[in-house]
Amino acid sequence: MEQIASESSPQVSEHISILHIGESSRECQISASLQRWRQAHADIELGFVLTCTRQFDDGLRLLKPNRFSVVLLDIYSDDPDSLDKVGILSSEYPEIPVIVLIIDNDHDFASRAIKAGAQDYLFKDHLNDQIMMRTIRYTIEKHKLSILLRNHLRDLRASRERFRNIIERNADAIIIVDKTGTVRFANKAAGKLFDREASDLPGELFGFPIVAKDTAEIDIFRKDGKKAIAEMRVVESEWSGESVFLATLRDVTKRREAEEEMEKMRKFERHLAYHDTLTNLPNRSLFYDRLNQAINQTKRANSLTAILFLDLDGFKWVNDSLGHSKGDMLLQIVAQKLKRCIRESDTVARLGGDEFTVMLPNLDNATNAAVVARKILETLSKPLSISGNEIHITASVGISVFPTDAEDIESLMRFADIAMYRAKAKGKNNFQMFDPSIDVIDSRRFTIEKGLRNAVDNLEFVVHYQPQVDINTGKMIGSEALLRWQNPDFGLLYPTEFIPLAEETGLIVNIGKWLLRKVCEQNRKWQKTGYDPIRISLNLSARQFSEDDLVDDVVNALNDTKLDPQYLELEITESCAMQDLEYTVETLHALKSRGVRLSVDDFGTGYSSMGYLKRYPVDTLKIDQSFVKNLPSDKDNSAITTAIIAMAHSLGKKTIAEGVETDEQVRFLKSLRCDEMQGFHVSKPLTSDSLEELLRKRSAPSIPKYC
Ligand code: C2E
Ligand code: MG
Ligand code: MG
Repeated sequence: MEQIASESSPQVSEHISILHIGESSRECQISASLQRWRQAHADIELGFVLTCTRQFDDGLRLLKPNRFSVVLLDIYSDDPDSLDKVGILSSEYPEIPVIVLIIDNDHDFASRAIKAGAQDYLFKDHLNDQIMMRTIRYTIEKHKLSILLRNHLRDLRASRERFRNIIERNADAIIIVDKTGTVRFANKAAGKLFDREASDLPGELFGFPIVAKDTAEIDIFRKDGKKAIAEMRVVESEWSGESVFLATLRDVTKRREAEEEMEKMRKFERHLAYHDTLTNLPNRSLFYDRLNQAINQTKRANSLTAILFLDLDGFKWVNDSLGHSKGDMLLQIVAQKLKRCIRESDTVARLGGDEFTVMLPNLDNATNAAVVARKILETLSKPLSISGNEIHITASVGISVFPTDAEDIESLMRFADIAMYRAKAKGKNNFQMFDPSIDVIDSRRFTIEKGLRNAVDNLEFVVHYQPQVDINTGKMIGSEALLRWQNPDFGLLYPTEFIPLAEETGLIVNIGKWLLRKVCEQNRKWQKTGYDPIRISLNLSARQFSEDDLVDDVVNALNDTKLDPQYLELEITESCAMQDLEYTVETLHALKSRGVRLSVDDFGTGYSSMGYLKRYPVDTLKIDQSFVKNLPSDKDNSAITTAIIAMAHSLGKKTIAEGVETDEQVRFLKSLRCDEMQGFHVSKPLTSDSLEELLRKRSAPSIPKYC
């Protein structure tokens, strides 16, 4: 092996290093040729280093550590190994180009050498300096380029593969559609979306209107018969040089299903919010909504809208005697019946309890409302059967009309309600049109009456206590419980404003039960606190007094609160005491036997039968304040008061003067030996806190007057 360098010249900037396998340097024609060429082209900045070796194996060894620009390989057509050698070189050193040198002009052999991996060939016999040099340089450049190209192609293929993978594995369906609407490519996800083999899709028509667009939702009818929903995005793109559409389809079926489910839930919740759960009728909110709409329409159409306010008669009886579940069933049946009485455009709603409302919009005249009311009453009054029980139910209906009676919803509702109350008062099972000439006067009373129904539950009642003192010592011996009602609309109301109404409606019974307990509890609490005990009296209304369970209620309240009965006093008015004389005697005895104190209130205002008064086990007569007024100057009152006190004492009863306001009254009453007194002169009725303050002072060493 020898190395031959071209004569080095300073201007040479590039070297070609050549390995010639087949000849020793001495015999190497190439070397001579190169040198000749170099001399002839001194101006070209190109040098070369030639390494020669005879043996092929030596050549291979040289290739390993050195970097050659090109290999020249002598091959012979009669040497069977020649082409193999070419193959070995090009496969082991693919980056180095091989030029074969062939002895004879064998073109066929030359082209076989090219196929075996040689880049070019030269015929040794016709070796020409110029041709050789050009061939060497051209081969080297061409080979560099082809390697570059090959690498580039390899990179390209790899990146295409990567891209393909991304597309294939994409969760979204990717479909390429050409301008004729034919699918050219579809990824796996596309196959899944359509329930098809992805490879079957190319060639088929896409079938969806395709325009470059942000998103569109499409329904896909899959092969398995199911429907899928996809969000499709389309962009214009290129595909093998052709302009195409690239559609990305995201399967949103599950999301849409979940949304639909949510929407259903929301609808259901809305339904619940606007409907009564028991009857499925619209509730108050929906009724008011519809009424609002109807009123607006009515205004435009210049017509009328009527409201029917309906309350079942005797529903409480059904509930109490047959049980709540039967009561519920009854309400459901009533709801159905009501619906059958009205047109599609009308609304029937349940406000709560046994109260229903019906709205009749777009009426020409109010008598149409009366026709519907009559129909409703007739339908409801037919007997119905609930679990084998035949039930007769009727209703009372009040009607108000927009805009005749009122122009706002609140008033319309109230007026229909008021008219309904009148229907009740007129014996139930009838309807009444709102009549301002009657109903407006009742308006305050109506509002109070409505409020009274819930006043106990809403804890709107408060109790004030008016001290009662011994007229001689001034010592407080008791107090009278007087009811006050903190009304949300009218403020603090006094008994004269609501007790008569409470009696009329029977609500007094419940109110009285509440007061009885309250008073016993309060008194017991004060005693437990350590104050000297006093008695507290409370007023029984005639209605309460005639209740069968009065005695039981009193006994229970005493037992439950552990109050000693002697500290509870019950007042009945004289007129009440004289209503049913035998009953009064019996009831008073029953109460007396339990140890409570009894008194006759407003004494002198009624017509007492002296015979009975003697038989009443009452402890005290309360001289009505109308007789105490202007004592002693009013001669009549003086006479009456004198007589009452004398008579009471002769019957062994005590007297207490009510409404005592002046010193003169006190002096006069003292002179008549009246026992006790109560009135503004001593104290106005006090809150429980203020009375407690008095009780505390009473225990102090120096007791003030009237304590
Ligand atoms: P009454 O039982 O005769 O109660 C005495 C009334 O006279 C009380 O009026 C009291 O504030 C008032 N009064 C007390 N001292 C004087 C005074 O010096 N001058 C004047 N002018 N008035 C005085 P109130 O609290 O308005 O009660 C009125 C009536 O309401 C009571 O008359 C009683 O009949 C009834 N009432 C009060 N509370 C209840 C109750 O809890 N149940 C029942 N059924 N009726 C009650
Ligand atoms: Mg009283
Ligand atoms: Mg009185």
